[in-house]
Amino acid sequence: MNVISTIKEMQKKRKDLFIDGKSVGFVPTMGYLHEGHISLIEQAKQENDVVVVSIFVNPLQFGPNEDFDSYPRDLERDEKVAKEHGADFLFYPSVEEMYPQERTTTLTVMNRVDVLCGASRPGHFDGVATVVMKLLQIVGPDRIYFGLKDAQQVAVVDGLVSDFNVPVEIIPCATVRESDGLAKSSRNVYLSEQERAEAPALFESLKTAESMIEDGERNPEPVLGKVKEILSQQTSGEIDYIEILSYPGLKPVAKLENKIIIAIAVKFNKARLIDNLILTV
Ligand code: AMP
Repeated sequence: MNVISTIKEMQKKRKDLFIDGKSVGFVPTMGYLHEGHISLIEQAKQENDVVVVSIFVNPLQFGPNEDFDSYPRDLERDEKVAKEHGADFLFYPSVEEMYPQERTTTLTVMNRVDVLCGASRPGHFDGVATVVMKLLQIVGPDRIYFGLKDAQQVAVVDGLVSDFNVPVEIIPCATVRESDGLAKSSRNVYLSEQERAEAPALFESLKTAESMIEDGERNPEPVLGKVKEILSQQTSGEIDYIEILSYPGLKPVAKLENKIIIAIAVKFNKARLIDNLILTV
């Protein structure tokens, strides 16, 4: 595996790969790799000749009171993990390399961001869209892999790629979970022992919602009520949001039908956990 830290070198490699007729799968991450990231890398390996993984903790997508400085980082371990699971290139630019001077342009996301994490984290998806657009120009992949744990991110990138006619295929990948249902996340290390014990309630609440819908419930209100009851009874966290929306349009729904997302966010002491289920009713 080749570790690359400059944009120029990454773009040169991409040109060489294009000349050699190699397809490129790209997995953008913020590092501190876990099984969720690994599943994306392995899927990219199966579907492409070459896999590029990026590790970049993007300051633009963190709010002023968020965890940019304390976000967990471990490059040495990440290099080993990425290599072991089939990455051919690890793109690891510095903040100065990605954002060298005062910028002239930035992207503003206009749709799909007035709900869920977009509502709780103003500007977050502008930062995501800007860095993803930059990474797409640098890596030039045929396919880009995203986890559905961050389903709103997939919906926003889907809009971005379509709006700017980016010639890349988005591959959404299933959420990888701990054996007790907790979605794997780099931020799970922030949970106290007690919070970690409570955290499976997030997935449990979503599965209960799914069962209600499978049993014929078509009104969102009782489903939202049940999820709220489980989260407030079984966790000490503060509920940030519980929403049911259309997917990927992220519009409110009066009736549970077609493709919907049930998404939740709970703030614990040092970690804010998100989870969701996407269902076709
Ligand atoms: P992050 O490093 O948190 O920015 O995540 C990088 C990519 O890995 C994103 O596309 C995430 O959606 C994806 N990812 C993170 N956690 C999981 C998980 N538990 N299962 C599947 N994909 C995940």
